[in-house]
This record gives sequence, C-alpha cells and structure tokens, in this order.
Amino acid sequence: MDFLRPTTWEEALAAKADRPDAVPIQGGTDVMVEINFGVRRPPALLDLNGVAELRDWSMTGGMCRLGAGVPYAVVVDRLGDVLPGLAQAARTVGSPQIRNRGSVGGNLGAASPAGDSHPPLLAAGAVVEVGSRDRGVRMIPATEFYLGVKRSALEQDELIRAVHVPPATGPQYFSKVGTRNAMVIAVCSFAIALHPGERRVGTGLGSAAPTPRRALEAEELLAAELDWEAPLDPALARRFGELCARAAAPIDDVRGTAAYRVHAIGVLARRTLAWAWTDHLGKRAA
Ligand SMILES: Cc1cc2nc3c(=O)[nH]c(=O)nc-3n(C[C@H](O)[C@H](O)[C@H](O)COP(=O)(O)OP(=O)(O)OC[C@H]3O[C@@H](n4cnc5c(N)ncnc54)[C@H](O)[C@@H]3O)c2cc1C
Repeated sequence: MDFLRPTTWEEALAAKADRPDAVPIQGGTDVMVEINFGVRRPPALLDLNGVAELRDWSMTGGMCRLGAGVPYAVVVDRLGDVLPGLAQAARTVGSPQIRNRGSVGGNLGAASPAGDSHPPLLAAGAVVEVGSRDRGVRMIPATEFYLGVKRSALEQDELIRAVHVPPATGPQYFSKVGTRNAMVIAVCSFAIALHPGERRVGTGLGSAAPTPRRALEAEELLAAELDWEAPLDPALARRFGELCARAAAPIDDVRGTAAYRVHAIGVLARRTLAWAWTDHLGKRAA
C-alpha cells in the first residue's frame, strides 16, 4: 500500500488527481477501523495530517470556517458559543481519544447516515467547501452533500477543505438516542437551530433515513405558525414532532426498529424545540 504525505493543500489536490484511488485519511478513526477489520484494502492512503491549514478554524465573511481536519475536541473546547449545536453533537462522539483524532471533515467524508455532525450542520445551514486540482473549488450546501448511505457529492478527485457554518443567532440543540450514554452509534438523532432574525427553525435528522436530512414540512409549519413572542403552543409542538417523525424513513437494524426510530424522532423533535424555546424566551426576558 502506498502512503502519500502531502504538506500543502495544492500537493494534496495534485496527489488526489494523480491517484484517485488513494483514500484520504485524517484522524483515521473510520479508515483504520475499516483497514484493521479487512473491510477495505486501498492501494494507497493519502495522509492529510501534514496539511496544517486543515486543522485551522476562523471567522470568515460572517461564517465560521472549520478546516476539514479540526478535531471534535477543538469544536467542544473552542466553539461552544459560536456553534452550540455542533459542539453538543461533538461532545457525544466516541470517547476522548476519538474526539482528539476524529474530525468533522472525516464525518463528512464517511457520510454515514449515523454521523453525529450531520444533523447540526443541516439545521444550521452549513456549506461544504471541496476542491480539486483540475476543477477548482465547489461550495456544496449540506442539504445537497449527502446522496445515499455512505455516499456523498464528493467526486473521485476532490477533497473536503472546510465546512462553513453560520454562527448561531439563536438557541441550538442536539439530542441522540443510544443504547448507552457513551461510545455508541446513534439509534437516531435530531438537531434544531432557531434563526430568530429570519423567523425560521432549521432541523436535521440523523440515523433515520438513508441520508441525514431536514424535516422540511415541519420547518414550514413553524415558519408559518410560530408566534416568536409567545410561549410555545403545545399543540403546535406536537404537530412539529409528528411532521419530523413523518420525514424519517428508517430501517430495522441491530440498533433499533424503524418504528422505534420514527417514534423517537418525534419525541426528540418536540423536546429539543421546547428546550430551545425556553432559551429563546429567557433571552428576550433578560
Ligand atoms: C470507537 C469509535 C467510536 C466512534 N463514535 C462515533 C460517534 O459517537 N459519532 C460519530 O459520528 N462517529 C463516531 N465514530 C466514527 C468516527 O470517529 C467519525 O466518523 C469521525 O468523524 C471520522 O473522522 P476522522 O478524521 O477520524 O476520519 P478518517 O477516518 O480519517 O476518514 C473518514 C472518511 O472520510 C474521508 N476523508 C477524511 N478526510 C477527508 C477530506 N479532507 N476530504 C475527503 N475525504 C476525507 C476518508 O477517506 C474516510 O472515507 C467512532 C469511531 C470509533 C472508532
């Protein structure tokens, strides 16, 4: 197996263009498991750890630009105020060791429907920045990034450079159902982001369909009927939960049944909306 070690972004893109069969590796918390268990034996690995810029984050053009290699631990420690939904999700990933190595870019690269960063990225309205040597930069909205189970819009010669996430302008929550509290793949998960300036609520469902997805009808319901000055109407919250559950299209597997997942998504949606609404009204009263 060849081992390619670029030290700049340009070198990384050139290596990927010349060797489209090379599998990128950042934290390795997915890739090394697959290699160790014989799930795949790539002819080459493209180690991105030498490309320092991938581990940087910055505020750029009103967005938080998170390099693809920024580990979860940094999101938790540094970005809790700016990206609270993503930071909450990052806190639930694996163990401290996995959070030190694993990255949001790696989660995107794997494109598992159960990846924990996807729901908050969808709810916040994130955009994925990808690049290739021959075709330049593409900015792909998270809503268009996930194409199928472990399939993304990334082409063979492309690498993920960063993800651009709008800083929170309102409360955000992430909630995950698992068979225990740590080191579990989500049975299902849900993220919510209130965008008070736009009078809009963003959603993201995880582990509840072939791809992470938004609950669009549920978002439309709240956009039309939420009174942003008033306490949350329980009937509206219930309908929101029902529409989120209806957006799910899960499967039965070892972690849970489809019926359970549909039910749980409805509960998580209602619950996270109530938490966010309490914060929203609290902030207005303060
Ligand atoms: C014990 C354990 C517990 C875990 N718990 C969780 C959990 O709770 N929640 C969760 O979501 N995940 C979990 N994971 C999975 C994994 O940690 C995450 O998916 C993590 O985000 C992967 O990041 P990484 O940097 O390690 O990616 P890598 O393993 O390096 O790469 C993952 C995939 O992304 C591709 N890739 C990496 N970087 C790029 C790039 N810049 N451009 C294009 N493609 C790229 C790789 O080729 C590969 O296909 C767990 C894994 C383990 C081993």
